[in-house]
Amino acid sequence: MTARILSGKQVAAIVRDEVAKRVAALAGGGKSVGLATVMAGEDPASQIYVRSKHRAAEKAGMLCFDHQLPADVGQGQIEGLVRTLNRDPQVDGIIVQLPLPPELDGNRAVASIDPAKDVDGLHPYNLGLLALERGRLHPATPSGIMRMLHHYEIETSGRLAVILGRSLLVGKPMALLLGAKGVDATVVQAHSRSRDLDDLIGKADILVAAIGKAQYVHGSQLKKGAVVIDVGINRTESGLVGDVDFDSAVEVAGAITPVPGGVGVMTVASLLANTVTAAELASVD
Ligand code: NAP
Repeated sequence: MTARILSGKQVAAIVRDEVAKRVAALAGGGKSVGLATVMAGEDPASQIYVRSKHRAAEKAGMLCFDHQLPADVGQGQIEGLVRTLNRDPQVDGIIVQLPLPPELDGNRAVASIDPAKDVDGLHPYNLGLLALERGRLHPATPSGIMRMLHHYEIETSGRLAVILGRSLLVGKPMALLLGAKGVDATVVQAHSRSRDLDDLIGKADILVAAIGKAQYVHGSQLKKGAVVIDVGINRTESGLVGDVDFDSAVEVAGAITPVPGGVGVMTVASLLANTVTAAELASVD
């Protein structure tokens, strides 16, 4: 058996196209869409992520505001900048690029964003709405995964979804989205203290791997026909790899996301979708 490849590239292209049309519709009514990023320090991976967000946003017709702050910036200065952006009518979405330098508190910086402009969906208010199943701005990576599952008509109802990882960015919101009413997966959230992981992985109908450990899950552990969503992005000597060993998994799984070209591209597309949603909601206020 060779798994069906769930291409994030294909779905992201559809999402980007939808976003560009929604941006154009708002522009027709005289409303521009603006995305602001706030970054501190010179972490090379963060610089790459921020650049790719700006490129994608500009292509979709959005205005971009790039705020690069030095690594020794104070917590008060970051939060002051965020509050200024909160008041700026040209800015619909604000991203504080994480991680911030270690002396700074990323959670506090994110909490200073106006929840209506929190397009990463990481503000406590938006995470609370997500738990209440009423959220509009969901964290971009799990939101992109849900869009892929929908696009490829992957059945979730009643199926066992095992999520490896419980971060606020990926694992926790993924569990909430997969377990929500209407999606109806039976969710198991695993983490570094989980026992019998091998057993859990072997039972999963849907496996989401988000632990940040290169090729940690091997095909021999998977249930035959499982849907494998590989969130991991790990830089190795042989290039970029996921948390799943693709070559062995593809022989056992029923469907699998590749790395690169899977979840990662969907993350940026979902961020754009959140930004235009924030702008639409602002324009009806
Ligand atoms: P994170 O904050 O470091 O969280 C990792 C999670 O994995 C933690 O909950 C940890 O458990 C758990 N874990 C670690 N080792 C484990 C093990 N052996 N077995 C089971 N669970 C284990 O990482 P993250 O931000 O969620 O990111 C995870 C991966 O996804 C990284 O490779 C990251 O680069 C990637 N990522 C990709 C995208 C994308 O767009 N594709 C977006 C975000 C992140 P504890 O809680 O017990 O420590």
